[in-house]
Amino acid sequence: FRTIHRSFAAQAEQQPDKALFELPDGREITYRETARTVRRIAARLVADGVTPGDRVAAQVDKSPEAIALYLATLQIGGVFLPLNTAYTGAEMEYFIGDAGPRVLVCSPGRQADHAHRAGADLVVETLGTKGDGTLLDGDGQYDQVVDSAADDPAAILYTSGTTGRSKGAVLTHGNLASNCQALLDSWQFTAEDRLVHALPIFHVHGLFVAANMTLAAGASMYFLPKFDVDTVVDLLPRATVLMGVPTFYTRLLQHDRLTPQSCAATRLFVSGSAPLLASDHQAFEARTGHAILERYGMTETGMNTTNPYEGGPRKPGTVGKPLPGTEIRVVDEKTGAALPDGEVGSIEVRGPNVFAGYWQMPEKTAAEFREDGFFITGDLGRIDEDGYLCIVGRGKDLVISGGYNVYPKEIEELLDAHPAVLESAVIGVPHPDFGETVVAVVVPAPGQEPREAELLDFIAGDLARFKHPRAVRVVEALPRNVMGKVQKAELRKQYAELFV
Ligand code: ATP
Ligand code: MG
Repeated sequence: FRTIHRSFAAQAEQQPDKALFELPDGREITYRETARTVRRIAARLVADGVTPGDRVAAQVDKSPEAIALYLATLQIGGVFLPLNTAYTGAEMEYFIGDAGPRVLVCSPGRQADHAHRAGADLVVETLGTKGDGTLLDGDGQYDQVVDSAADDPAAILYTSGTTGRSKGAVLTHGNLASNCQALLDSWQFTAEDRLVHALPIFHVHGLFVAANMTLAAGASMYFLPKFDVDTVVDLLPRATVLMGVPTFYTRLLQHDRLTPQSCAATRLFVSGSAPLLASDHQAFEARTGHAILERYGMTETGMNTTNPYEGGPRKPGTVGKPLPGTEIRVVDEKTGAALPDGEVGSIEVRGPNVFAGYWQMPEKTAAEFREDGFFITGDLGRIDEDGYLCIVGRGKDLVISGGYNVYPKEIEELLDAHPAVLESAVIGVPHPDFGETVVAVVVPAPGQEPREAELLDFIAGDLARFKHPRAVRVVEALPRNVMGKVQKAELRKQYAELFV
């Protein structure tokens, strides 16, 4: 077992002059330089009083130094706690109060907002994107590396808050290292790879998938502040891998310079964090010759399943099979009994990737685990005839109408197949007779004006009557968060009074 910090340090020893980061302005930062910055930040954190187990919270813009801060925290046995840069006042109050960090690193522009927090228990540092900030003051080099065990906490990551208040998931060094290794093996990711990194680094996808894999493999990454479709299309001819959320692919497909030639050097396109439309998967393959590899994971577990890199088809609408070492099962939500393949039930996962528990929420943690150690993901799915997992949605998005279960995805897929529909979201809203009833919210395809009756006609033949939407609303765009997740809770709120 080797921590992510040690894997990185080993790469920095072996290939010190290799570029780890390539920045939009053309600047390259080597493994050696990064290792120096890591030791310098480690010195600062130790001087700030960080001891093993202490939380180091960071709400900073994406930069190579922010990754160095993450590695420095791991080096000294601290617990890294990245926060979404969009959080403001009351949200920050909750996260800081909840996590009780020893150090809070914020953007230089936000120092004034946090000055009142500084005191005997908390040090406020700053870190900017131009090599600025108090965190980089001083030129100490801290060499000691804490020998963290596999089950020592390495990070607390807050969930995206799609279904309710974000929960802090405590991830151990073993969780991070094992999941990283499983992904390196599954996707044959090596030092030869050049990754386009356009994801935020306060989330599992950008930090524990994209960045950890690059650091541990000794690869390079084009490190972009955010996803900009022109920049990404320009970089693809020099990149071997792109990791993205589904909206990256939707936007790439709208770009006229996305061609087989522009992707000739790229060997792998990965999608995750939210469902990739099967139609986008097919359109991307038709356009570029590349089948996007979809995988499934979550903050609490890292990655669970992946479509095959080799040795099998990448099936649109599925998230593939369990990663090596990880077990997946589909069970009856109430009894916990395993269901036969093909039946929809609660997705549960067990393995070295599964987190230690929710931060300071022992009851919530206990409630989400079965006695035999399986974690209840909250997602619903089924295993198909080839053993691939298909996610049909979240338990919380299930619609129960007149006592019948309605899985939104089934209806969404039918609606999406209509030529006038770009995408759709199906939700349940309160209804006086049925308890809940089905409402479809659709986004028109470019230049189209779908009508409610036409859409209902189109899908009615394929759906039992109780699944028919009682209303269809056409909107310009679905509400999404930064990870591209459709905010169904937002939609439910918006249409709550349609029938009552
Ligand atoms: P919260 O738990 O706070 O409500 P969240 O579940 O959105 O928020 P994350 O941990 O960021 O927070 O997201 C994990 C979830 O994202 C999964 O449980 C699943 O619902 C969804 N997801 C991830 N990858 C995929 C995928 N390939 N297809 C469908 N859904 C996916
Ligand atoms: Mg969740």
